[in-house]
Amino acid sequence: MRRPPSRVKRVLRRGLWLTACFFAVPSAAWAWSNHTLCTWQAVAVLPQIAQRTVPAETLASFLSMEAEHLPQVLEDEERWARATVPSYAPRPDALAFQAARDADATTLRRAFLRAIRANEDMPLNLYLQRPPGTAVPAERMMDWSALSVLKGMSDLDAHSLERLEDGAAAPVADVIATASNEPDFGLDIALWQDNGAPEGAAYGYGPQPFGNPRLEYSSQAPFHMGFYHESGILYRAAPYLQNTYPEARIHLYMTLSRFAFAQGHPYWGWRFAGWAVHYVQDLAQPYHARVLPGVGVPRMLWTSVLDMAGVHGPKTAAVNRVTNRHTVLENYQYHHMAAAYAQGRMDDPLLAALRDTADDTALPRLLPPSPRDLITVQSAAVADTLDAQLERSFPAHYVTDPDTDLDAVPDLDMDAVARQAPEAEQRKLTDLVAARMRQVGRDTRALIRAVAPTGQEAAAGGDAKP
Ligand SMILES: [Zn+2]
Repeated sequence: MRRPPSRVKRVLRRGLWLTACFFAVPSAAWAWSNHTLCTWQAVAVLPQIAQRTVPAETLASFLSMEAEHLPQVLEDEERWARATVPSYAPRPDALAFQAARDADATTLRRAFLRAIRANEDMPLNLYLQRPPGTAVPAERMMDWSALSVLKGMSDLDAHSLERLEDGAAAPVADVIATASNEPDFGLDIALWQDNGAPEGAAYGYGPQPFGNPRLEYSSQAPFHMGFYHESGILYRAAPYLQNTYPEARIHLYMTLSRFAFAQGHPYWGWRFAGWAVHYVQDLAQPYHARVLPGVGVPRMLWTSVLDMAGVHGPKTAAVNRVTNRHTVLENYQYHHMAAAYAQGRMDDPLLAALRDTADDTALPRLLPPSPRDLITVQSAAVADTLDAQLERSFPAHYVTDPDTDLDAVPDLDMDAVARQAPEAEQRKLTDLVAARMRQVGRDTRALIRAVAPTGQEAAAGGDAKP
């Protein structure tokens, strides 16, 4: 039997790891920029669903009509989360949804957002994001501030956001795609107790487990990342890495989606489904499923030892490199796909991969353990390979030089940069990113089938044929 390490050793070891990991989760803003570009393609091969329209309905109307039944649904959801999601921080009872049917719209919305512990200032107005190339008349454009709590805007065309009238017929594909981008508009911003917002004090999530709490976007990271496949020693030393919420978010929004459909609110059925789709798509991004792709545990330990000894360079360099590669991958995927949309090249390998249903039989319907057991298993497994490919496809300035700060580079277009690489490296990069998009497409459709009302679900090819 091995003697347990002395207390001094234990403390030292823990201290090293904590130092190694606390600053080591890169805090890049998004996973995929502009999720709508992915979602439109993924659902296009489900025409029985995507080509329908549903009447738009305000959130106040939905909440007021369901004020009686919604508390029980959220109570059951809370019970599920407490029993099922590891590291779940219970929702304080005082936040349980409670509102009178005749309460005003703001009161209803805030009560709802607090009950689901999301940012209570999210406007949740009626709008649609239109596909690239659609001209939205100036008088129908939505202001960013009417949709988001963020000052900065993610990668999307400000002219693509169109007001939607209460009761107007909304294409289901557009409702799902629009909603799949909305969690990046601020639903999960400033929810931790050290983010300086009133929600943080009330919500019970505790301090932000990783990321930099002073950065506007960083507070959403633990809701959009899931590190389920790291080594055991990493979790023992840094248990806060397991303090993530995408599984809880996916399940909550799927529950709300099914409830909305069952109660006769198809618009909210699809909008909630789109919110859940966002997190599923994020988890297919390797930099959202692994803490430090391309950096082995021994190297993490060694750089942290050096860091403790006052040699900070190697650790800072490793973190900067991974942050930059995360940005490079996301920027490449966005610009590549945006260009294909703009030029009408629908046979582009990334867009085609999103519509490819060949893998759908592996996950016809999304079930609660899927995000952990299937989705992140795949994205974590390819993380090192993709990370190494980025190194071969892009100049060292972008992916190796630790002094580069890509967040400070305006108009970064990594798709244009990738085209300078040797053709063989371009092809390998495209293949690896297309594989990610193929998974995004499969997982998006698996979620849609899992919540679709009976009848539509059968028509949507539960056997995975388009
Ligand atoms: Zn996200």
